[in-house]
Amino acid sequence: MPNQERPSKPALESYVPPAGTRHPVAAGETWISLAKRIGIDPWDLIEFNFPGVKLVKQRNFQQATRQVNWYLAEYVGCRATSRDRQNFAFSSGTTGGKGGWRGGFIYLPPGTPPPPPPAPTPALSLPAAPVLPQCEGSRPDFARVLDKSEQDLALSVFGPTLPSWDSIAITNGLGSSGRPWTNDGPFFTGSNPMVPGMRYAINVGGVVFSDLTSTGTTLGILCENFGRICDLFVHEMTHVWQAFNDSNWTMARSAWAQSWFGAATSTRPTHTTSSNRHTSSKIGTNTRTGIRRSPRIAIRMSGS
Ligand SMILES: [Zn+2]
Repeated sequence: MPNQERPSKPALESYVPPAGTRHPVAAGETWISLAKRIGIDPWDLIEFNFPGVKLVKQRNFQQATRQVNWYLAEYVGCRATSRDRQNFAFSSGTTGGKGGWRGGFIYLPPGTPPPPPPAPTPALSLPAAPVLPQCEGSRPDFARVLDKSEQDLALSVFGPTLPSWDSIAITNGLGSSGRPWTNDGPFFTGSNPMVPGMRYAINVGGVVFSDLTSTGTTLGILCENFGRICDLFVHEMTHVWQAFNDSNWTMARSAWAQSWFGAATSTRPTHTTSSNRHTSSKIGTNTRTGIRRSPRIAIRMSGS
């Protein structure tokens, strides 16, 4: 059992370190590892929790460590010991203790970010795709940029003729009747914190949550079958390419407005499963990927 010593004037049970964040300790964590993660000295972290210990340490290091052990046992509820059995150790599932430390908590000082959780979380967590396909137009409430493999696919088709990646957003919005469509800004510019540089928005509903290089079908994700996800992606990228490279190409801002604000429907997006005017022009095929390439097309159509 580690040596313990009750301080002459222990911290009050009701004491709460000012503006501290309660942190549940876990096995493997130590004062040293926690302090290191938040960029402070371990004894400052101890002192923040149990004022007075640092002063003791200046006079008598061993006495200070005995007092820290006493606090860990009495206040934090520690029962596990370090490998050399000289000190108490943090562990999860602690039940005893006193005050705010009871149950295995210590306080972290304000102004320091909390240590990351033990299990690494994915850098990008996407919300789950909706279960039922939407068959109506909708404004996007989610947007993202292309990931590396999607950029690579776009590059393999269009080469270096596209606007910057940070200006191209994929969103979960949809055009009228739930059809994918692409629009160019400044409709969105500066107004979407998810993609601050958004200049072109490819709106593909629930497909936004898919890998856009996937050869899987859009059926079931969208209201109608728009073919393979990768083909839909390349098709919509064509509109980005058009908007970027052809100054005469007036895009879909008007269609967006019309589908949304209830004006004439004569410029509704024209995708159908039987005929696709957008991709019926002179287009080659990338033999490696089987994906159509080289969009030498002149379309003045809006939407989709
Ligand atoms: Zn289209």
